Amino acid sequence: MFADLAEQLRIREQKGLRRTRQIVDSPQASHITIDGRDYLAFSSNDYLGLANHPELIASACDGARRYGVGAGASHLVNGHSAAHHDLETALAAFTGFPQALLFSTGYMANIGMVTALAGREDAVFADKLNHASLNDAALLSRAQFIRYPHCDLAALEQRLATVQARRKLVISDAVFSMEGDIAPIRRLIALCERYHAWLLLDDAHGFGVLGEQGRGSLFLPENAHSHSPNLVYMATLGKAAGVSGAFVAAQPEVIETLIQSARSYIYTTATAPLLAHALLTSVRLIKQDEWRREALQRNMAQLKQGVQSLPWKLLPSNTPIQPLLTGDSAEAVRISQALREHGILVPAIRPPTVPQGAARLRISLSAAHRPEDVQRLTDALHELASA
Ligand SMILES: *Cc1c(COP(=O)(O)O)cnc(C)c1O
Repeated sequence: MFADLAEQLRIREQKGLRRTRQIVDSPQASHITIDGRDYLAFSSNDYLGLANHPELIASACDGARRYGVGAGASHLVNGHSAAHHDLETALAAFTGFPQALLFSTGYMANIGMVTALAGREDAVFADKLNHASLNDAALLSRAQFIRYPHCDLAALEQRLATVQARRKLVISDAVFSMEGDIAPIRRLIALCERYHAWLLLDDAHGFGVLGEQGRGSLFLPENAHSHSPNLVYMATLGKAAGVSGAFVAAQPEVIETLIQSARSYIYTTATAPLLAHALLTSVRLIKQDEWRREALQRNMAQLKQGVQSLPWKLLPSNTPIQPLLTGDSAEAVRISQALREHGILVPAIRPPTVPQGAARLRISLSAAHRPEDVQRLTDALHELASA
């Protein structure tokens, strides 16, 4: 048994696919410390710079004093605290849905939502570039699993029109995590309404960042008034919101169905109430600190300007996810490693995470980056391009 595992690990190593963890010994911020060395990081999803915000730390401490540390039980036993409840109410109001339900992670929210809404007689239609958690959820649901080319709504429509199923669920990232592009949400909603399908939208990277007051992708001007009863909205709370967890927002019948049958909701200990308490502060800061989204816009503009004459091009993206395409995997790894030697962290993303020949550096911007941080990155990239 051990020899077999060792052999598989050796093969992985040989292919250059072995992944390792680095030990961070500072809070998550634009500058982090790894093994005693300071790095400028363009690798986290802490888009608004809230993960280490003094007010969030203070509310986490206040939450610990009020509720203790552990929830002690699952939501349906006696782990559902006032903090969880207040947060659900705040998130529903903030995203414009009648109800919301809190999950411990985005991965669990996706698993719970898809498996509670789809079963053997149903069909799931998924964008090819969706997050892995949505694919895992679809497989676990045992529904027919039909993937369509990235944002190709004609292909999706053709499949919706021909596939026979009791329920049809279209699932899509709202902002694609390796591309940074935004799904055609308005048209997806219209299509789902026409074919009596549900639309499950994963806004992990849009919540807090996009739309009026950071209310998410549904509040982008081009999606205004596109709410629909067919829509089931999911967003995570460990990215822009700076803490951890996730929520699903939808019509009351959907939320009640999840409470009754989403196994990743039922069979797990509720997330620590102190985190839910801190997240109430997060929601307030997201809503009020317009300057954070403005800082992000400024950083995006500066990055786009600064990389114009490089041999590698940014994919078109108006989100903090700014992928710099190298095409070649070895090239992506080489640049990522060289940047690291300059004290700058930008991950190289290679197949199979992205399509063959589409390796890239995934630059992830934060409101916490200062103009001189972005400058340092573009200067280093220019230096590497001419080396
Ligand atoms: C990060 C992410 C998730 C998982 O969320 P966690 O809270 O980290 O488990 C789900 N969907 C997408 C699109 C993500 O980027």
